[in-house]
Amino acid sequence: MSHTPRIPKFAQWPSFPFEGDLRVKQLDEPVDVEPARKGEGSSVCAACETPDEAYIWVSERWRVRAMDRPSGLPMVLILESRSHLDLGDLPNLLAAELGVMTVRLERAIRSLDGVARVHVNRWGDGSAHFHMWFLARPYGRLQLRGTFLSLWDDILPPIPESVWRENLALVAAWLAEFGGRTLAEPPRIEWQAPSSLAQQASAGVTLPVEELAVKGKSVAEPEEASRDTDQGGDVGADEANNGETSKDTNGEIDEDTNGETSEDVSSEASDETGGDIGGRAGATRRTDG
Ligand SMILES: [Zn+2]
Repeated sequence: MSHTPRIPKFAQWPSFPFEGDLRVKQLDEPVDVEPARKGEGSSVCAACETPDEAYIWVSERWRVRAMDRPSGLPMVLILESRSHLDLGDLPNLLAAELGVMTVRLERAIRSLDGVARVHVNRWGDGSAHFHMWFLARPYGRLQLRGTFLSLWDDILPPIPESVWRENLALVAAWLAEFGGRTLAEPPRIEWQAPSSLAQQASAGVTLPVEELAVKGKSVAEPEEASRDTDQGGDVGADEANNGETSKDTNGEIDEDTNGETSEDVSSEASDETGGDIGGRAGATRRTDG
């Protein structure tokens, strides 16, 4: 344990975010008993405690949330089950819906301007409540391809808040096309209200609050979102990922590195859930997400 490990080859990849002299950390001794994750044992589950209003879209069984503020990537979202379950505990209905939700959310995010690829990750070392990450890789940024995208999210300067809010509203509207409830609204509403109020005030007219709300809703209609993507004709095999290293949501490293090439997922899933996967997924497609 006292020898210094060599720097692995990925430190030479163009996508590796750091340069200069690097040294591999010494590994701590393994613990005998791992500590409880958030939401495990007696610790409070933040996801279960959080009201729908904190999410951009919710349905009977799923919720989608964004970060508190814009970060370096064009979009970072988290899909959560409403029930307090971990991935391996999802019953067949939720497991089948997870597939549908994953594809739907990937399409919604990929339809945003300037998004080339959406990386989907589940780590689960920080929090026990099932949550899956969707990270958008900006178009043309070849250096961000693959494994280190989540690190770059913290390195790049945050995108403008107005763009971020607009994108959240578009994704939420897209999801709402299939059911559920949109909670994210585009930034235009916030900009409209003060200026309209100021105008109204100077003109001595009282503006009904409801009117603003109605305007806001019409802005949030999913027209734009559905226009150019519906069937996402270019849903192609994701060729770029040369082995996904995994990083925990809270910056903790999780060891299962080496490339989850998930080509075989479909056969596995259909084996496991048997005949009802098609029917269930089909049935839920239009009703709720
Ligand atoms: Zn929970």
